Amino acid sequence: MTDTMTNRRTAVRASHEILERICEEILRRQRFLLTSHARPDGDSIGSQMAMAYALDTLGKQVRIVNADSAPDHYRAFPGLDRIEIAPHAAGEADAVIVMECSDLSRTGVTGFDGRYIINIDHHAGNRMYGALNWFDESAAACGEMVFELIRALGVPLSLEIATHIYLAILTDTGSFHHSNITPRTFDICRQTVEAGVNPAAMARRVFDSNSFGKLKLIGALLDAMELTDDGRLAVMYMDEAMLTSCGCTHNDTEGVINLPLTAREIQAVVFFKVGAAGDVRVSMRSKYDVDVRMVASAFGGGGHKNAAGFTVTGRLDDVRPVIIERIVAAIAQGLETRPERD
Ligand code: AMP
Ligand code: MN
Repeated sequence: MTDTMTNRRTAVRASHEILERICEEILRRQRFLLTSHARPDGDSIGSQMAMAYALDTLGKQVRIVNADSAPDHYRAFPGLDRIEIAPHAAGEADAVIVMECSDLSRTGVTGFDGRYIINIDHHAGNRMYGALNWFDESAAACGEMVFELIRALGVPLSLEIATHIYLAILTDTGSFHHSNITPRTFDICRQTVEAGVNPAAMARRVFDSNSFGKLKLIGALLDAMELTDDGRLAVMYMDEAMLTSCGCTHNDTEGVINLPLTAREIQAVVFFKVGAAGDVRVSMRSKYDVDVRMVASAFGGGGHKNAAGFTVTGRLDDVRPVIIERIVAAIAQGLETRPERD
């Protein structure tokens, strides 16, 4: 047996053990607090909501506390009115289930320290901050892990649960574009479709629900976009003035970063988003083996090979050339293993 096979088997066995431990602890506890990262995306919403419905089925008490509300087009998904938006999680609970967070501070919510935490995540570099830590970098979405947990708990796949699991996977794979998709991804999706999920309707609800303002914003952002590295890197920039002039909010920027990648030549995109307080969030996306997570890690952030991000601490003008230089290097490295044809 090769070393890789041995490692894989050890990892699979370890993941079964932790899954069993998590099931035991969930079944013997009653009151749960669920949370995920600030500025939630489809995976954080889908994972939390699927978990909440599963815990309901088991007769548990469930509260969900998030730092920020979900993007508008997710509001119509089942149960989202249950999410409490608060900077601090008060109240009694027997366990906190944190999904999609490599670090507890990613929640943007205080009040979890010292509680019994179950950490479920797929981001490389997870800090293992829980009493129980289930970390699986091979999961295309945290929703894949939540699906496994729900099945291990013996909870049937209701339409609500299936919808949220599909939402998590659809969005976190960049609508089935990223290179972290495995047979397991489709096996789970197949089961959600069997449970009643309509993939066409889901794609329309998630990706075709833009406001006219957002279309205007997309136009403005693409118009201002710059190309570097012989057209292989797209650089996008947005500030409050651009948002306001299109009647948009930060939530309207979701998914915009993927558009430049539809150009065949473009291998990576970096998107600088300047907030009202002058804070700068940097999002990156890439194709195939171009590893933008390594770039994010160098600046204190994280994510995945094809989707990563971080927050700029200093002045943007000072760090911008360094960020671009690193991405250009990542593109060169990623392309070494692949002829630049698509
Ligand atoms: P975004 O560009 O914000 O959609 O983020 C892309 C991916 O990078 C997601 O998986 C995020 O969880 C991750 N990410 C973004 N910002 C950070 C950060 N500051 N620290 C760790 N991971 C991050
Ligand atoms: Mn995720």
